[in-house]
Amino acid sequence: MNDSILIIENLKTYFPVNLPNGRQGFVKAVDGVNLSVKKGEVMGLVGESGSGKSTLAYTLMGMYSPTEGRMVFLGQDICAVSHKRSLTLKKDIQIVFQDPGSSLNRQQTIRQIIELPLRVHKIVKKSEVDRKIASILQLVELSPDYMYKSPASIGGGERQMVAIARALAANPRFIVLDEPTSALDVSIQAKIINMLMQLQKKQELTYLFITHDLSLMRNIATRVAIMYLGKICEMAETVSFFKNPLHPYTRMLLSAIPVVSEEEEALKPKRVLSTGEIPSPVNIPPGCSFHLRCRERSRECSITDPEMREVVPGHFVRCHLYDKK
Ligand code: SF4
Repeated sequence: MNDSILIIENLKTYFPVNLPNGRQGFVKAVDGVNLSVKKGEVMGLVGESGSGKSTLAYTLMGMYSPTEGRMVFLGQDICAVSHKRSLTLKKDIQIVFQDPGSSLNRQQTIRQIIELPLRVHKIVKKSEVDRKIASILQLVELSPDYMYKSPASIGGGERQMVAIARALAANPRFIVLDEPTSALDVSIQAKIINMLMQLQKKQELTYLFITHDLSLMRNIATRVAIMYLGKICEMAETVSFFKNPLHPYTRMLLSAIPVVSEEEEALKPKRVLSTGEIPSPVNIPPGCSFHLRCRERSRECSITDPEMREVVPGHFVRCHLYDKK
């Protein structure tokens, strides 16, 4: 796909663990993910805790080495250079972490924090650094005075704005947003989301937006992918996704979203109760990894892992309910 900025093929990230029986096992945190992200879109990657979405992000950032698979960014195979990524690649792909309290150095001033990517990537001349930092702070709605403060002296929302400013300082093309508002007070979440969406348009950015909040994706994502136990189980354009959710797990997640109006309630899938528990990622059951919790399972589901299928154009699902008869 030539409008893709990122193509991920059969990506696996496994971590070795010692099992109680003395043998070695693996946590299959990411287990065969295929995903493409188009230039200028907001790709929403949604999953419960432990689904592997953050591991996927950190593998993309080069923080974990993939066990298998390929990641191609702007035509360049970035797995091949993961041990020593080029400066251009590091500049082009930035990340904003969930907790700005731990992702920013509290001993530094905000000026020092934002100056570092400007210097490393030679964005401006030394004489223009202060002016540039002031203009980046303005982008995230902070006044130039903030450059003399430290992260410890400002609130959580402002710290996340500084983390976003640091990512923007490198002039990136692609930003991974790893649950960027979930550690923040509810009162500030909407402000940060609105700001991110305005920046995306203004700076022509592409986002991989990682979240457990499926309802948030309805308003901001171009496409949505659902991750469960290391695999993507459904992926579609946002309108199709919310209008016609196909995978039983997606329907379960959607049916649990609280709504405020009768109109929204009418649009929700009927309440789907989960049965069973999420299996351990060290001991994923054979067949469909969701089958122990699925009320629609058949015999086939406990034997064969379903393939991802394009059921309607652009709408993919991994479930035996949609196998060609
Ligand atoms: Fe349920 Fe079977 Fe579909 Fe898995 S493959 S989600 S168990 S119906």
